[in-house]
Amino acid sequence: MPTQSSERWVDDGNNMVEMFEELGYETDLQYAEDVVENQLSQIENMITRGVDLLIIASIDGEALSDVLDQAERLDIPVIAYDRLIMNSEHVSYYATFDNFGVGELQGKYIEEQLGLADGKGPFNIELFAGSPDDNNAYFFWDGAMSILQPYIDNEQLVVRSGQTEFSQGATLRWSGSEAQERMDNLLSAHYSDVDIDAVYSPFDGISLGVISSLKAVGYGTDNKPLPIITGQDAERSSVRSIISGEQTQTIFKDTRLLAERAVNMAEALLKGEEPEVNDTETYDNNAKVVPAYLIEPASVDINNYQEVLIESGYYDESELN
Ligand code: BGC
Repeated sequence: MPTQSSERWVDDGNNMVEMFEELGYETDLQYAEDVVENQLSQIENMITRGVDLLIIASIDGEALSDVLDQAERLDIPVIAYDRLIMNSEHVSYYATFDNFGVGELQGKYIEEQLGLADGKGPFNIELFAGSPDDNNAYFFWDGAMSILQPYIDNEQLVVRSGQTEFSQGATLRWSGSEAQERMDNLLSAHYSDVDIDAVYSPFDGISLGVISSLKAVGYGTDNKPLPIITGQDAERSSVRSIISGEQTQTIFKDTRLLAERAVNMAEALLKGEEPEVNDTETYDNNAKVVPAYLIEPASVDINNYQEVLIESGYYDESELN
């Protein structure tokens, strides 16, 4: 797993360990704390110790080709977990969510909240993208822009900074503090005399960084309300932020279902069977199209968090206080 600094990966790891152990497997769960070299040496050590299968949520999707060659020589199957591993033929299967769909849900949320389809506007918006070494980041961005770009083109949405390209909004390693710094700069350069109405953020950690920046210049009061701010992962701190009226929306991706998918794929591979997939077209990693199983994400805000996150048993109410 990539890092423990974002809760979702902790939940993903724990869910898989629990499910594998119930089935009688031994597991070795390691976190690389967003350092690519750590992840490489963790995988190398696992290969040396003779594991039967690897499940990897990569940090840099383009950095694993050599180590996957080693796995291939020893016939160790590799499942890409949530993030596609690029440039290697030795990615057996991919378990993930509908990543373009995540971006679409985020974009649609902004569209609905601002009444863009009814012709309202113009509104000021700024755009954040995820980590450029994570293939998912492009899918989220493309999904969101499939909804937002027409409104930027017809000027119902105005990006005062002019930063409308993925590369301009990209946030290395999805860092909340980097996003906060960029937001500080955007606010002082472009919003000293006018308010911002919406921020497209692809990930909860980025959203919280953006909110800190906004609050530091006085947003979050009756006279100067916070803009609409999207997010992703329904992390506890962001759900608390939604409950207290700061972050507006997030995307819930049920890590229980993803872990279950990955465990089922692993079992099938280890038994010499074919894992179930539902997508054999979308995820080209530049070496092959990796057969994938995509799970549906869900949009969450103040109006449905109870039902989606608590009544589903994903969180206990007490975790969100
Ligand atoms: C995951 C997202 C997550 C992001 C940052 C992406 O690859 O799909 O769920 O928000 O990484 O950890």
